[in-house]
Amino acid sequence: MTAPPEPTALTVKERKHVTVSELKEWLSCPLRHWYRYKLGLWSDTTTSFFALGNATHAGLERFYSPLDPRNLDLAREVVRRAWADEQAKVNWSEERDGRDPFMTGQTALALLDASCAEPEDWRPVAVEKTLYADIEHSRLGKLPVPLKTRVDLLIESAQGPGAPDVVEHKTADKSWPAGKEHSEVQPVAYTMAVRANYGHNPVTTHNILVANKAPKVDRRSSVRTQDHIDRLYVQIRALLDADERGGVYPNPTSWAHERCEFRAICDTWEAHPQPLPTGRRLQLLVPGLGDYAARVPGATWHGKHG
Ligand code: SF4
Repeated sequence: MTAPPEPTALTVKERKHVTVSELKEWLSCPLRHWYRYKLGLWSDTTTSFFALGNATHAGLERFYSPLDPRNLDLAREVVRRAWADEQAKVNWSEERDGRDPFMTGQTALALLDASCAEPEDWRPVAVEKTLYADIEHSRLGKLPVPLKTRVDLLIESAQGPGAPDVVEHKTADKSWPAGKEHSEVQPVAYTMAVRANYGHNPVTTHNILVANKAPKVDRRSSVRTQDHIDRLYVQIRALLDADERGGVYPNPTSWAHERCEFRAICDTWEAHPQPLPTGRRLQLLVPGLGDYAARVPGATWHGKHG
């Protein structure tokens, strides 16, 4: 039997934009950011909490589809299908609190039902809309790359569909503390994106779905200003500066450290990024890496193709 081909080289990806998720990853652990965003080493593994959020999110995307809004039966079907994919990415033996695939899938459906039963008068304009915006400080000018953001749901504002507001769906394992909606970073990105693309300063409503025994829905709104954009600019500029200087270091105090897929590499870490193994060795070190060569620009192949 012919051995499957293996990638022989990893190259650093050229930056075309920046996202809030990327910024959060970099702030949490610059090395994990390096593996994922710079080398493209994304694994397919996830936790039950993220799987739950993804499945619920998929159902809400369907529920608010502007072409056929508020079709709960179809939205529930989308959650079921999404859950079949998501639950397969979870290592259930590592899950705490006795979570299991069946009950967690039922929780995803219960969260969807609870959210859809909560009264609102949202008129959907678009779901999962990707928008770009310049990252511009009030005094320091513009950064060389744009911000990319994906908005969960755009709805008509009081000024009509051409000046939309934003809804962000959030899954939480406990209630948000008072005021948290005003410190989240993502709405700043939404504000930049809606300002740039629609010339409107949006209200962002957080649709918070709390996965308690009895699912709870909490809705909170916030509005962001240029001051918030200036603060985000400074953080993103620090990320771009670190990119240029090659400043990469591990952060074992990161929230992600305990279950990070790169632990096997980091446990033998010395000081600075070193050439990583490729092919089967890297796949063995990083759980769930799968066919990463297909997703890594610059990864080249050797061996006989079967
Ligand atoms: S194992 Fe810890 S230090 Fe290493 S990349 Fe992951 S989060 Fe960072």
